[in-house]
Amino acid sequence: MQSLRLTALEGLTGVDVKLKTELNGKITDAFGSNVFSAKTMREFLSDEAYKSLMNSIKAGTKIERKMADQIASGMKAWAMKKGVTHYTHWFQPLTGTTAEKHDSFFTLKSDGTAIETFDGDALVQQEPDASSFPNGGIRATFEARGYTAWDPSSPAFIIDQGAGKTLCIPTIFVAYTGESLDYKAPLLKATAALDKAAVDVCNYFDKNITKVTTTLGWEQEYFVVDESMANARPDLVMCGRTVVGHAPAKGQQLEDHYFGSIPERVYAYMRDFEEEAYKLGIPLRTRHNEVAPSQFECAPIFEEVNIAVDHNSLLMDVMSKVAKRHKLRILFHEKPFAGINGSGKHNNWSMATDTGVNLLAPGKTPKTNLMFLTFFVNTIKAVHDYSDLLRASIASPSNDFRLGANEAPPAIISVFTGKYLSEVLQEVKTRVSNKFDEQDEAILKLDLHRHIPELLLDNTDRNRTSPFAFTGNKFEFRAVGSTANCASAMTVLNTIMAKTLQNFKTEVDGLIEKGEKKEIAIMQTLRKYIVDSEKILFEGDGYSEDWEKEAEKRGLPNVKTTPRALDAFVTPKATQLFVETGVYNEKELHARHEVLLEDYVKKVQIEARVIGEIATNNILPSAVRYMNELLVNIKGLKENGFPESAYKAQLQIATKISEHINVISETVQAMIEARKTANKLDDSRQKAIDYCEKIKQPYFDTIRYHADKLEFLVDDKIWGLPKYRELLFLR
Ligand code: ADP
Ligand code: MG
Repeated sequence: MQSLRLTALEGLTGVDVKLKTELNGKITDAFGSNVFSAKTMREFLSDEAYKSLMNSIKAGTKIERKMADQIASGMKAWAMKKGVTHYTHWFQPLTGTTAEKHDSFFTLKSDGTAIETFDGDALVQQEPDASSFPNGGIRATFEARGYTAWDPSSPAFIIDQGAGKTLCIPTIFVAYTGESLDYKAPLLKATAALDKAAVDVCNYFDKNITKVTTTLGWEQEYFVVDESMANARPDLVMCGRTVVGHAPAKGQQLEDHYFGSIPERVYAYMRDFEEEAYKLGIPLRTRHNEVAPSQFECAPIFEEVNIAVDHNSLLMDVMSKVAKRHKLRILFHEKPFAGINGSGKHNNWSMATDTGVNLLAPGKTPKTNLMFLTFFVNTIKAVHDYSDLLRASIASPSNDFRLGANEAPPAIISVFTGKYLSEVLQEVKTRVSNKFDEQDEAILKLDLHRHIPELLLDNTDRNRTSPFAFTGNKFEFRAVGSTANCASAMTVLNTIMAKTLQNFKTEVDGLIEKGEKKEIAIMQTLRKYIVDSEKILFEGDGYSEDWEKEAEKRGLPNVKTTPRALDAFVTPKATQLFVETGVYNEKELHARHEVLLEDYVKKVQIEARVIGEIATNNILPSAVRYMNELLVNIKGLKENGFPESAYKAQLQIATKISEHINVISETVQAMIEARKTANKLDDSRQKAIDYCEKIKQPYFDTIRYHADKLEFLVDDKIWGLPKYRELLFLR
């Protein structure tokens, strides 16, 4: 039988580029058609029910049971009109994917009559049989059940899978004892904490502000490969990344892919998933080629953080499903190919008031500029004080391959502000002093105002190497991994910002109580924060070795691996932060730490197994076959009286091959032994560290090195695994 690789290669020429989208030009026609939007609600809900739901969305008020019944019935009417038969609570457990459990509207009454029903109970709460979701021991020791609870702030939507349509109700997922078991519940708590703290600070400047929402605009990077080609690679099937593969003659050095024209087949795929996204109300805006061959990016218009998180999770799901129709495979992994750029998910983050002000956009007047400066400096202070937590929030086994690797932010967290704002910070630092009076304050405010308006979006420097960069009217957290659920990073960012603003308010109020004028108190506290956080600011090349050295001198942490980065979640400082802000209690925090460590162990364990299997089942047999061919040939030459010089080269190649085979075989064996030792450990942290430092680090690259040498030596026809050039350049 011929190898899957050759079959896949043959199949490629026959691929038919088929576009399914019905959208022709006008996106607005389809936008949100599968969403229970405000407009749809108007149509399907009574005035009373509509008002109750709107209040809950805007102000978080509770929805009465009677209203829930009405809302459920409106949702059902809308959904059935659109051909929906089933509904599900849709949630984001800590597995990293989304979860659904479908129930039909269909039921039988006690007298046997068939009816379609969906009531308030079914809308508000469900009990998925959830004992197999990660819970960090919470449900093992306490209560075995968990439940999902409706989150009215994220609208219900319909997933249309061709085979059927399902009404999805966004929910949070909690244990019966109340602990959160998902990404959403903590995010909602952190966002509420930030809302409150930010409003309090805003009121120094504007009493009309009563609500601050967090805005998130993510940018999703991904790779696209041909499906049959991906299927011929056990590592892509099982781990989403290639664990072996010789570098292709041409990689990304020509830089001819970035912003190049999008290949036809991928373009058709993009159009199709975009249409699905539009129907789901995901406001996709940009699409383009990324730096690496076969790498692409899409990004929506920013939204309120809770919705943006749901939309990202939903889109990743949609993208994978639509890819199947096009016989493509999407790789969200942060580093699917060694030696080639990885993928990230930039999180553009800001805060907006209910009066329509973006708190990270420079203001129009000296007064609003002081408000901007306050939020700007507080963000820097928050990142400075809790950089270890931000680092932990983006830690994952797959992101470990990217952080600090080719073309990616290092594991060191620093903040880039750009030239203009660096100058502004310096001005505040040098001019605000203890003797600073009202007149100084007025002049400084005017001077700063003159400085800041220059800062149009276009002239903020674009430092692409900073993990946390100010980009004119928002911060961009770039170190987030492409597979990540944005909620993890956003929960931490909102929490540390809430806490920093709370402290800021306390300090400013303290000065005011001592008789200081409000604006002077603010300036003085800002100055203090600038001085305190200076070491986190870095404007240079974040990818350079010099920065690693400099960061070390400054005492900035540079934790390169997940098991150690996660320690930051359970320090006394972090515990105090999360408990005080109400985002996690101590039990939840430890449970989450446990879940993340277990996830690390499982993923590295799977990779180790896959590496062992690929080496033994694919690479060694190909190498042996080729070596045999050489030996038969050498034997023939010898028997026919050829001199040694005639088969010298072949003998050398055969010798090299046998050397590589030996090393691979021994290393795989040693790795298995190391796993046996690690598996005996009970402590999750120690086990994760062992998996990282005693399995992954010593063995993965060694096996790969020799496997890649073999790929280079062995006859191309015999090699069974699709090669990098085929995965990256053929489609
Ligand atoms: P790039 O970073 O690729 O140059 P842009 O700066 O235009 O692109 O925007 C990137 C992302 O930032 C977009 O997804 C956009 O929606 C988002 N964005 C813009 N303004 C805000 C904001 N105030 N809050 C959050 N995200 C924002
Ligand atoms: Mg960007």
